[in-house]
Amino acid sequence: MLFLFLAALFSITFPAAMSAEKPFSFKETPGKLPKDVVPTDYFVRIVPDLDKFIFTGTETVKLSVRSPVHQLILNALELKIEAASIDGKELPASAIKTAHESELLTLTLPSELANGDHSLALSFTGKINQQGQGLFYIRYQEQGTGTKKTMLGTQFEATDARRFFPCWDEPAFRSRFQLTAVVPENWLAVSNMPVESEKKIAGAKEVRFAATPQMSSYLNVFVAGELDFIESRSGPTQIRVIATKGKAELGRYALEATAQILQYYNDYFGVPYPLPKLDQIALPGGFGGAMENWGGITYYESALLFDPKNSSAETKQNIYEVIAHEVAHMWFGDLVTMAWWDNLWLNEGFASWMGTKCTARFNPQWEVWLRRNLPRDPSRRVGIAREQAMEGDARSTTHPIQQRIATEAEANSAFDDITYKKGQSFLRMLESFLGEDVFRDGIRRYIAAHKYSNSTTADLWNALSEASKKPVEEIANGWIQQPGFPLVKVNREADGKIRLTQERFTVNFKKAPPLEWKIPLTYAVVGEAPATLLITSKSVVLENISADRALKLNAKGAGNYRVEYDEPSWNLLALPKLGVEDRVNLLSDAWALVQADRAPVSLYFGLAEKLPVSSTDLAEREQVINVLDLINGLLVGDPQREKFQRYARSLLRPTFDTLGWEPKEGEPLTAGNLRVSLINALGDLDDPEIIAGCRERFEKYLANPASLSPDLRPAVFAVVGRYADEKTWTKLHELGVKTTSIEEKQNYYNALACATDPKLAKKTLAIALTDELPTSRAIFLVSRVARETGHSDVAWDFARANMKALLAKTDAAGANRYAPSLFTFFSDDSRVDELKTYAKNNLPPASAREVAKVVDEIQFRAEFKKRLAAQLTAWTGKKRSPGETRSGGL
Ligand SMILES: [Zn+2]
Repeated sequence: MLFLFLAALFSITFPAAMSAEKPFSFKETPGKLPKDVVPTDYFVRIVPDLDKFIFTGTETVKLSVRSPVHQLILNALELKIEAASIDGKELPASAIKTAHESELLTLTLPSELANGDHSLALSFTGKINQQGQGLFYIRYQEQGTGTKKTMLGTQFEATDARRFFPCWDEPAFRSRFQLTAVVPENWLAVSNMPVESEKKIAGAKEVRFAATPQMSSYLNVFVAGELDFIESRSGPTQIRVIATKGKAELGRYALEATAQILQYYNDYFGVPYPLPKLDQIALPGGFGGAMENWGGITYYESALLFDPKNSSAETKQNIYEVIAHEVAHMWFGDLVTMAWWDNLWLNEGFASWMGTKCTARFNPQWEVWLRRNLPRDPSRRVGIAREQAMEGDARSTTHPIQQRIATEAEANSAFDDITYKKGQSFLRMLESFLGEDVFRDGIRRYIAAHKYSNSTTADLWNALSEASKKPVEEIANGWIQQPGFPLVKVNREADGKIRLTQERFTVNFKKAPPLEWKIPLTYAVVGEAPATLLITSKSVVLENISADRALKLNAKGAGNYRVEYDEPSWNLLALPKLGVEDRVNLLSDAWALVQADRAPVSLYFGLAEKLPVSSTDLAEREQVINVLDLINGLLVGDPQREKFQRYARSLLRPTFDTLGWEPKEGEPLTAGNLRVSLINALGDLDDPEIIAGCRERFEKYLANPASLSPDLRPAVFAVVGRYADEKTWTKLHELGVKTTSIEEKQNYYNALACATDPKLAKKTLAIALTDELPTSRAIFLVSRVARETGHSDVAWDFARANMKALLAKTDAAGANRYAPSLFTFFSDDSRVDELKTYAKNNLPPASAREVAKVVDEIQFRAEFKKRLAAQLTAWTGKKRSPGETRSGGL
């Protein structure tokens, strides 16, 4: 599963237990459900009622009883069980108990159920939800006509299949599922498998799908509506892109990308994709992300559909990355599934790593490994891993990649940066340590050994150890079972030796328990080939490196650790002589040291100023942009802000002036990405020429939309929106209401949410309560106002007053995170108490980790703001370098 819109915020600290994990065993897998009854085949029939938004269902489940039982315990949530029978014998109503709290359905049997095969039959009714959980409906405007239409979709991960049909809803209970659904005659219905039969019944049609292979319940899918598709084949596999009527052709790019990705994975995993078809389904709302249902992957529409005339290059890249992530799950997640949610990283860390690797393989020009800095738009959360993971992992509120999961709420909140991004980052480090081919051989062994079954992290280490003949588990345990990550300090000693010492790297975490790691370190004397060294103790010595040679650790930034050089070592490192990956790595480490209060801000800006003044290296510039953006946000309301903005512009304008507004013939793709980033950044930094340029282009666009390149539209609209007056705001709003393209709609509403005029910010917030936007997007309009406008207080006041209506648009996991997430952009200590009090009075215990994490963030921002303000005065006030006179005379 991939969340595109929710800034996942987490916390909880576990003791660092380093006990070895066991290989997969069904019996020993954690979970609530007893393991003496195992379902093997489900036959489910669903009849939705689109007027009342309810559905009726019946199911027959074949059971294999492994030791005699007196009751059956399975999952059901918000389902009314109308009748139940076992082996054809009806149970009395008193034998049927559903418990909302535990999400369990208990059936008490009249007599002991003996070992062997049995058959359970149930009939039930349930709800069709507004928010994207269980079975849900989406209202959308039809392409071409603008008519309001309704369609259906499902979202079951982590624990919501039980809202659709009673089931053994834990990943280790693999079964075959056969779905039948009754839908209007003019609808297309889609599920994991192809349609097996279709028949007309009383003004509707009944569609029966083929049975799935053995899989986990959360991977079921059902989508239906007035849909179109385009299709192709890749070997024996039918590939389709399915969208609402009139939009299927916009799936052309996704269709081609899918074929390429599928072929690559068929080879990489050594087991070909096992289902007869793979559908990529675009949903115009309901949920905001993508979900790897086996054979029927669902996507938020703008993460799948690409309109060559109106979509931006960023959208295209995002689509490829999301597809590559989701299709990787067809193996890692679907064919082989983690035994329990404590191993969720096996699914998500792996799919994130694999998706990025595949994207980089076919699109080297996008620099996906490098663009891992905090993205400007948190809705783009794919492929950009290491820095985000390390930021959260340095705090007191982090947790090990592998964490104990007891409840449904914990399972849902395991989907966080640590699981996805630290997981990905660790796998990348391990792959580069073991070697690409050896690593792939290990993965092939793992897939072959566990296909159609479940696994634990230990199973993966065993396969990689066998392939590499190296003690992978020993190296990996520290990274998977401990929170945090190391800092490696470089000291040149008097005798010429270089001492490397490791310690835990932390930010805003004074008394952190000390930890050690086995670090697969890479290092290079600048100008020579990198070498590898496995550090297994607190401190090691590098010999034979002469005192006048520069030494760079963490070659290409592929390792998940920070490096702190002593002064002589810093002085030898001449940035312009390093490759771009190493430059970005040094900048990122320097900035992290500043955040950790291990270095003054002058260390970072000293490095940034040494870079070529009009460099157009995308990742390097974006690293600088992200730092400037963070400081600019912290300084809202500070008298120093104007001076800082002038300084920040002087660092960025020369590059923009080199690139210009219009794409040049033959320029690299990254120049286009960078142009967009710079317009956004300089717009935020109050650059009058950029603002005027955006306004002029917006006016022309209104007269002739083709005059503005789709790549520039999101940035130009955002800058125009940021400085909008009422008339401009209204114009942007009209455009947003009218368009039937989800991507365009988002561009306009994102622009509205940037408006800094508090009166307009209030108008934007009010839209969150209407049905103008899909539910999953509407509530994040408030988050966006909090982040973009400097009026976090206005956004929070609005949210608090309308919390009930807002939360009705999100699922339970979202509800736990939503209120705390709106505090993330405060940097005033007094908000800590406010959040704690609010949480105590209004939030469920499951929100505790979110609250702790946001409390830490506010405290960090408050402290960092004070520290920065003092140091920035000295830095930005110093004598300007000659470069600045080229910055547009500001
Ligand atoms: Zn995923």
